[in-house]
Amino acid sequence: MLPSDFWSAVPARNSRGILERLKAGVVLGAEGYVFELERRGYIKAGPYVPEVVVDFPDALRELHREFLRAGAETMVALTYYAHREKLKDVGREKDLEAMNRQAVRIANEVAREGDALVAGDICNTWAYDPKNKEASSRVVRAMYEEQLSWAVDEGIDYVIAETNDYLGESLIALQVIKELGLPAMVTLASTRPHQTWDGYDYVDACKILADSGADIVGLNCDRGPATMLPIIEQVRSRVSGYIAAQPVPYKTDEAMPTFESLKTADGTNIFPIALEPFLCTRFEIADYARRAQALGVNYIGICCGGSPHYVRAMAEALGRTVAASRYSPAIELHPMIGAKIEEKAKEFLVDWKG
Ligand SMILES: [Zn+2]
Repeated sequence: MLPSDFWSAVPARNSRGILERLKAGVVLGAEGYVFELERRGYIKAGPYVPEVVVDFPDALRELHREFLRAGAETMVALTYYAHREKLKDVGREKDLEAMNRQAVRIANEVAREGDALVAGDICNTWAYDPKNKEASSRVVRAMYEEQLSWAVDEGIDYVIAETNDYLGESLIALQVIKELGLPAMVTLASTRPHQTWDGYDYVDACKILADSGADIVGLNCDRGPATMLPIIEQVRSRVSGYIAAQPVPYKTDEAMPTFESLKTADGTNIFPIALEPFLCTRFEIADYARRAQALGVNYIGICCGGSPHYVRAMAEALGRTVAASRYSPAIELHPMIGAKIEEKAKEFLVDWKG
Protein backbone atom coordinates (compact mmCIF):
# COMPACT_ATOMS: atom_id res chain seq x y z
CA MET A 1 0.00 0.00 0.00
CA LEU A 2 1.44 3.36 -1.01
CA PRO A 3 1.42 6.22 1.52
CA SER A 4 -1.41 8.61 0.71
CA ASP A 5 0.96 11.47 -0.19
CA PHE A 6 3.22 9.23 -2.30
CA TRP A 7 2.57 11.18 -5.47
CA SER A 8 2.09 14.56 -3.85
CA ALA A 9 5.12 16.08 -5.56
CA VAL A 10 3.98 14.89 -8.98
CA PRO A 11 1.63 17.33 -10.67
CA ALA A 12 -1.36 16.02 -12.58
CA ARG A 13 -0.61 15.09 -16.17
CA ASN A 14 -0.88 18.06 -18.46
CA SER A 15 -1.62 18.01 -22.12
CA ARG A 16 1.60 19.51 -23.47
CA GLY A 17 3.28 17.40 -26.10
CA ILE A 18 7.01 16.88 -26.45
CA LEU A 19 7.52 19.89 -28.73
CA GLU A 20 5.64 22.26 -26.44
CA ARG A 21 7.69 21.02 -23.50
CA LEU A 22 10.95 21.48 -25.36
CA LYS A 23 9.91 24.98 -26.29
CA ALA A 24 9.36 25.72 -22.61
CA GLY A 25 12.71 24.31 -21.48
CA VAL A 26 14.84 21.22 -20.96
CA VAL A 27 13.04 17.88 -21.06
CA LEU A 28 14.49 15.24 -18.76
CA GLY A 29 14.59 11.73 -20.18
CA ALA A 30 15.51 8.37 -18.69
CA GLU A 31 16.44 5.15 -20.38
CA GLY A 32 18.49 2.11 -19.55
CA TYR A 33 15.46 -0.11 -18.95
CA VAL A 34 17.06 -3.16 -20.54
CA PHE A 35 20.32 -2.96 -18.54
CA GLU A 36 18.52 -2.20 -15.28
CA LEU A 37 16.00 -5.03 -15.68
CA GLU A 38 18.86 -7.38 -16.62
CA ARG A 39 20.60 -6.46 -13.36
CA ARG A 40 17.34 -7.13 -11.53
CA GLY A 41 17.08 -10.60 -13.04
CA TYR A 42 14.30 -10.16 -15.60
CA ILE A 43 16.16 -9.92 -18.93
CA LYS A 44 18.86 -12.18 -20.30
CA ALA A 45 22.17 -10.47 -21.09
CA GLY A 46 23.30 -11.36 -24.59
CA PRO A 47 20.08 -11.38 -26.59
CA TYR A 48 18.72 -8.52 -24.41
CA VAL A 49 15.15 -9.14 -25.58
CA PRO A 50 12.69 -7.41 -23.18
CA GLU A 51 10.85 -10.61 -22.28
CA VAL A 52 10.07 -8.97 -18.93
CA VAL A 53 7.24 -7.06 -20.63
CA VAL A 54 5.11 -10.18 -20.88
CA ASP A 55 6.76 -12.38 -18.23
CA PHE A 56 7.00 -9.93 -15.32
CA PRO A 57 4.95 -6.82 -16.16
CA ASP A 58 5.02 -5.66 -12.54
CA ALA A 59 8.81 -5.42 -12.63
CA LEU A 60 8.61 -3.15 -15.66
CA ARG A 61 5.78 -1.12 -14.14
CA GLU A 62 7.86 -0.57 -11.01
CA LEU A 63 10.90 0.66 -12.94
CA HIS A 64 8.76 3.06 -14.97
CA ARG A 65 7.34 4.34 -11.68
CA GLU A 66 10.81 4.78 -10.20
CA PHE A 67 11.95 6.79 -13.23
CA LEU A 68 8.76 8.85 -13.05
CA ARG A 69 9.25 9.60 -9.36
CA ALA A 70 12.88 10.50 -10.13
CA GLY A 71 11.72 13.16 -12.58
CA ALA A 72 11.66 11.51 -16.01
CA GLU A 73 9.20 13.36 -18.23
CA THR A 74 8.81 10.55 -20.73
CA MET A 75 7.95 6.93 -20.16
CA VAL A 76 9.77 5.19 -22.99
CA ALA A 77 7.84 2.06 -23.96
CA LEU A 78 10.14 -0.94 -23.56
CA THR A 79 9.97 -2.09 -27.16
CA TYR A 80 13.74 -1.86 -27.61
CA TYR A 81 14.79 -5.05 -29.39
CA ALA A 82 11.13 -6.17 -29.36
CA HIS A 83 11.32 -6.66 -33.11
CA ARG A 84 11.10 -9.68 -35.38
CA GLU A 85 14.87 -10.23 -35.84
CA LYS A 86 15.57 -10.24 -32.12
CA LEU A 87 12.56 -12.29 -31.06
CA LYS A 88 13.64 -14.97 -33.50
CA ASP A 89 16.90 -15.25 -31.54
CA VAL A 90 15.04 -16.31 -28.40
CA GLY A 91 12.28 -18.28 -30.14
CA ARG A 92 9.47 -15.93 -29.13
CA GLU A 93 8.25 -14.55 -32.44
CA LYS A 94 4.70 -15.49 -31.49
CA ASP A 95 4.89 -13.01 -28.59
CA LEU A 96 5.89 -10.11 -30.83
CA GLU A 97 2.57 -8.29 -30.92
CA ALA A 98 1.71 -8.95 -27.27
CA MET A 99 5.14 -7.72 -26.18
CA ASN A 100 4.87 -4.51 -28.19
CA ARG A 101 1.31 -3.72 -27.19
CA GLN A 102 1.83 -4.51 -23.52
CA ALA A 103 4.98 -2.37 -23.33
CA VAL A 104 3.11 0.68 -24.60
CA ARG A 105 0.12 -0.07 -22.38
CA ILE A 106 2.30 -0.24 -19.26
CA ALA A 107 4.14 2.97 -20.20
CA ASN A 108 0.75 4.70 -20.54
CA GLU A 109 -0.52 3.34 -17.27
CA VAL A 110 2.42 4.73 -15.33
CA ALA A 111 2.66 7.98 -17.32
CA ARG A 112 -0.91 8.72 -16.26
CA GLU A 113 0.13 8.44 -12.61
CA GLY A 114 2.22 11.57 -13.09
CA ASP A 115 3.13 14.26 -15.54
CA ALA A 116 4.81 12.17 -18.21
CA LEU A 117 4.57 11.64 -21.94
CA VAL A 118 4.76 8.24 -23.62
CA ALA A 119 7.30 7.58 -26.34
CA GLY A 120 7.14 4.68 -28.73
CA ASP A 121 10.59 3.21 -29.20
CA ILE A 122 12.33 1.67 -32.19
CA CYS A 123 16.00 0.97 -32.65
CA ASN A 124 18.65 -0.52 -34.89
CA THR A 125 17.26 -3.74 -36.36
CA TRP A 126 20.47 -5.59 -37.31
CA ALA A 127 18.69 -6.21 -40.64
CA TYR A 128 19.91 -3.09 -42.46
CA ASP A 129 22.70 -3.71 -44.95
CA PRO A 130 24.08 -0.78 -46.98
CA LYS A 131 25.51 -3.28 -49.51
CA ASN A 132 22.03 -4.59 -50.12
CA LYS A 133 20.29 -1.31 -49.46
CA GLU A 134 17.05 -1.66 -51.34
CA ALA A 135 16.03 -5.10 -50.15
CA SER A 136 17.24 -4.62 -46.58
CA SER A 137 15.51 -1.22 -46.37
CA ARG A 138 12.22 -2.91 -47.21
CA VAL A 139 12.70 -5.39 -44.37
CA VAL A 140 13.61 -2.63 -41.90
CA ARG A 141 10.69 -0.44 -42.97
CA ALA A 142 8.26 -3.33 -42.50
CA MET A 143 9.61 -3.96 -39.00
CA TYR A 144 9.25 -0.30 -38.01
CA GLU A 145 5.77 -0.07 -39.52
CA GLU A 146 4.69 -3.18 -37.67
CA GLN A 147 6.03 -2.06 -34.28
CA LEU A 148 4.77 1.50 -34.57
CA SER A 149 1.30 0.53 -35.81
CA TRP A 150 0.80 -1.35 -32.54
CA ALA A 151 2.31 1.54 -30.56
CA VAL A 152 0.05 4.12 -32.20
CA ASP A 153 -2.92 1.87 -31.60
CA GLU A 154 -2.13 1.72 -27.87
CA GLY A 155 -1.38 5.47 -27.71
CA ILE A 156 1.94 7.33 -27.87
CA ASP A 157 2.88 11.01 -27.88
CA TYR A 158 6.00 10.74 -30.03
CA VAL A 159 8.61 8.23 -31.16
CA ILE A 160 12.23 7.74 -30.19
CA ALA A 161 14.35 5.97 -32.83
CA GLU A 162 17.59 5.20 -31.09
CA THR A 163 21.04 3.60 -31.16
CA ASN A 164 21.13 3.92 -34.93
CA ASP A 165 24.47 2.65 -36.23
CA TYR A 166 23.57 3.61 -39.79
CA LEU A 167 22.31 7.00 -40.91
CA GLY A 168 20.50 5.13 -43.71
CA GLU A 169 18.54 3.01 -41.27
CA SER A 170 17.70 6.02 -39.09
CA LEU A 171 16.29 7.85 -42.11
CA ILE A 172 13.91 4.93 -42.72
CA ALA A 173 12.78 5.21 -39.10
CA LEU A 174 12.28 8.95 -39.52
CA GLN A 175 10.21 8.44 -42.65
CA VAL A 176 7.94 5.90 -40.98
CA ILE A 177 7.44 8.16 -37.93
CA LYS A 178 6.63 11.15 -40.13
CA GLU A 179 4.14 9.12 -42.17
CA LEU A 180 2.35 8.49 -38.88
CA GLY A 181 2.30 12.25 -38.25
CA LEU A 182 4.20 12.05 -34.96
CA PRO A 183 7.11 14.07 -33.58
CA ALA A 184 10.39 12.20 -34.11
CA MET A 185 13.44 12.03 -31.90
CA VAL A 186 16.21 10.27 -33.80
CA THR A 187 19.51 9.58 -32.08
CA LEU A 188 22.60 7.84 -33.33
CA ALA A 189 24.86 5.28 -31.70
CA SER A 190 28.51 6.37 -31.69
CA THR A 191 30.54 3.19 -31.42
CA ARG A 192 33.20 4.38 -33.85
CA PRO A 193 35.61 7.31 -33.57
CA HIS A 194 33.90 9.82 -35.88
CA GLN A 195 31.48 8.18 -38.27
CA THR A 196 28.32 6.12 -38.53
CA TRP A 197 28.70 2.61 -39.93
CA ASP A 198 27.72 3.95 -43.35
CA GLY A 199 30.44 6.56 -43.23
CA TYR A 200 28.79 9.82 -42.17
CA ASP A 201 30.45 12.07 -39.64
CA TYR A 202 28.19 12.03 -36.55
CA VAL A 203 27.71 15.80 -36.67
CA ASP A 204 26.88 15.75 -40.40
CA ALA A 205 24.50 12.84 -39.85
CA CYS A 206 22.64 14.77 -37.14
CA LYS A 207 22.38 17.75 -39.47
CA ILE A 208 21.02 15.55 -42.28
CA LEU A 209 18.42 14.07 -39.90
CA ALA A 210 17.34 17.52 -38.74
CA ASP A 211 17.16 18.79 -42.33
CA SER A 212 15.10 15.70 -43.23
CA GLY A 213 12.48 16.60 -40.67
CA ALA A 214 13.57 15.01 -37.38
CA ASP A 215 12.29 17.19 -34.54
CA ILE A 216 15.05 16.18 -32.12
CA VAL A 217 18.45 14.76 -33.12
CA GLY A 218 21.55 13.72 -31.23
CA LEU A 219 23.33 10.76 -29.73
CA ASN A 220 22.42 8.06 -27.26
CA CYS A 221 24.18 5.09 -25.67
CA ASP A 222 27.78 3.88 -26.11
CA ARG A 223 29.62 6.94 -24.80
CA GLY A 224 29.86 8.29 -21.28
CA PRO A 225 29.33 12.01 -20.64
CA ALA A 226 33.05 12.82 -21.02
CA THR A 227 33.29 11.52 -24.59
CA MET A 228 29.74 12.26 -25.77
CA LEU A 229 29.49 15.93 -24.84
CA PRO A 230 32.32 17.10 -27.15
CA ILE A 231 30.42 15.68 -30.15
CA ILE A 232 27.14 17.08 -28.85
CA GLU A 233 28.76 20.50 -28.59
CA GLN A 234 29.56 20.31 -32.32
CA VAL A 235 26.04 19.13 -33.10
CA ARG A 236 24.73 22.15 -31.18
CA SER A 237 26.79 24.49 -33.34
CA ARG A 238 25.45 22.94 -36.58
CA VAL A 239 21.81 22.14 -35.77
CA SER A 240 19.39 24.92 -34.92
CA GLY A 241 16.54 22.62 -33.85
CA TYR A 242 16.21 20.57 -30.69
CA ILE A 243 19.07 18.26 -29.75
CA ALA A 244 19.30 15.30 -27.38
CA ALA A 245 22.06 13.64 -25.39
CA GLN A 246 21.60 10.34 -23.59
CA PRO A 247 25.03 9.03 -22.59
CA VAL A 248 25.76 5.90 -20.58
CA PRO A 249 26.79 6.58 -16.96
CA TYR A 250 30.29 5.16 -17.33
CA LYS A 251 33.68 6.85 -17.10
CA THR A 252 34.80 6.68 -20.69
CA ASP A 253 37.84 8.68 -21.79
CA GLU A 254 39.93 9.43 -24.86
CA ALA A 255 41.68 6.06 -24.78
CA MET A 256 38.41 4.15 -24.18
CA PRO A 257 35.70 6.43 -25.61
CA THR A 258 32.80 3.94 -25.55
CA PHE A 259 31.61 1.46 -22.95
CA GLU A 260 32.24 -1.30 -25.46
CA SER A 261 35.93 -0.34 -25.43
CA LEU A 262 36.35 -0.24 -21.65
CA LYS A 263 39.01 -2.63 -20.34
CA THR A 264 40.43 -3.37 -16.92
CA ALA A 265 44.12 -2.65 -16.22
CA ASP A 266 45.09 -6.17 -17.36
CA GLY A 267 43.37 -5.66 -20.71
CA THR A 268 40.21 -7.69 -20.07
CA ASN A 269 37.10 -6.54 -21.93
CA ILE A 270 34.33 -5.86 -19.45
CA PHE A 271 31.40 -4.99 -21.74
CA PRO A 272 28.56 -5.62 -21.14
CA ILE A 273 28.24 -7.32 -17.75
CA ALA A 274 31.32 -6.34 -15.75
CA LEU A 275 31.15 -2.59 -16.24
CA GLU A 276 30.55 -1.65 -12.60
CA PRO A 277 34.12 -0.45 -11.81
CA PHE A 278 33.59 2.33 -14.35
CA LEU A 279 30.17 3.54 -13.15
CA CYS A 280 29.87 7.28 -12.58
CA THR A 281 28.74 8.55 -9.21
CA ARG A 282 25.43 10.40 -8.96
CA PHE A 283 27.43 13.62 -8.52
CA GLU A 284 29.22 13.08 -11.83
CA ILE A 285 25.87 12.52 -13.53
CA ALA A 286 24.45 15.66 -11.91
CA ASP A 287 27.47 17.52 -13.26
CA TYR A 288 26.84 16.08 -16.72
CA ALA A 289 23.25 17.37 -16.64
CA ARG A 290 24.46 20.85 -15.72
CA ARG A 291 27.07 20.83 -18.49
CA ALA A 292 24.57 19.56 -21.06
CA GLN A 293 22.16 22.32 -20.06
CA ALA A 294 24.94 24.91 -20.38
CA LEU A 295 25.72 23.62 -23.89
CA GLY A 296 22.11 24.13 -24.89
CA VAL A 297 21.02 20.50 -25.03
CA ASN A 298 17.21 20.37 -25.05
CA TYR A 299 16.55 16.73 -24.17
CA ILE A 300 18.87 15.54 -21.41
CA GLY A 301 18.76 11.88 -20.49
CA ILE A 302 20.70 8.78 -19.72
CA CYS A 303 21.03 5.36 -21.37
CA CYS A 304 22.28 1.84 -20.52
CA GLY A 305 23.47 1.72 -16.93
CA GLY A 306 21.01 4.44 -15.97
CA SER A 307 18.98 3.97 -12.81
CA PRO A 308 16.57 6.09 -10.78
CA HIS A 309 19.12 7.67 -8.43
CA TYR A 310 20.94 9.14 -11.45
CA VAL A 311 17.72 10.54 -12.85
CA ARG A 312 16.85 12.21 -9.56
CA ALA A 313 20.40 13.64 -9.40
CA MET A 314 19.93 15.09 -12.91
CA ALA A 315 16.51 16.51 -12.05
CA GLU A 316 17.82 18.20 -8.93
CA ALA A 317 20.89 19.50 -10.82
CA LEU A 318 18.42 21.15 -13.20
CA GLY A 319 16.81 22.83 -10.20
CA ARG A 320 13.77 20.58 -9.93
CA THR A 321 12.11 18.99 -6.95
CA VAL A 322 10.62 15.62 -7.87
CA ALA A 323 8.62 12.98 -6.03
CA ALA A 324 11.72 11.04 -5.06
CA SER A 325 13.34 14.23 -3.69
CA ARG A 326 11.38 13.49 -0.55
CA TYR A 327 14.03 10.86 0.18
CA SER A 328 17.06 12.70 -1.18
CA PRO A 329 20.16 12.34 1.00
CA ALA A 330 20.39 14.09 4.35
CA ILE A 331 23.88 12.87 5.20
CA GLU A 332 24.10 15.34 8.10
CA LEU A 333 21.65 13.02 9.88
CA HIS A 334 23.85 9.95 9.50
CA PRO A 335 24.71 8.82 13.02
CA MET A 336 28.40 8.32 12.29
CA ILE A 337 29.47 10.56 9.47
CA GLY A 338 26.84 13.24 10.01
CA ALA A 339 28.39 16.60 10.88
CA LYS A 340 26.39 16.81 14.09
CA ILE A 341 28.39 14.16 15.91
CA GLU A 342 31.95 15.07 15.14
CA GLU A 343 33.59 12.82 17.71
CA LYS A 344 31.68 9.78 16.41
CA ALA A 345 32.62 10.72 12.87
CA LYS A 346 36.29 10.55 13.82
CA GLU A 347 35.78 7.04 15.20
CA PHE A 348 33.95 5.91 12.09
CA LEU A 349 36.20 7.40 9.46
CA VAL A 350 39.31 5.59 10.65
CA ASP A 351 42.53 6.82 9.13
CA TRP A 352 43.56 3.53 7.55
CA LYS A 353 46.95 4.83 6.60
CA GLY A 354 47.69 5.83 10.19
ZN1 LIG B 1 21.93 2.35 -24.20
